[in-house]
Amino acid sequence: MTHIYKCSKCGQYTLEQNKCPKCGEAVSSPKPSKYSPQDKYGDYRRKAKSKTQQLSSD
Ligand SMILES: [Zn+2]
Repeated sequence: MTHIYKCSKCGQYTLEQNKCPKCGEAVSSPKPSKYSPQDKYGDYRRKAKSKTQQLSSD
């Protein structure tokens, strides 16, 4: 898997792990969202959680 980094300042994606080639700011590895739209299990968890919350608040 290719490691890609994202500039914390300008949002530039780069393969440079030390600094942004565009503005020189530090870059960080963007972590995939825990609730990614592509994550069908995340969607399932949201629905399950929502259902639980409705039941508990009712
Ligand atoms: Zn930058």
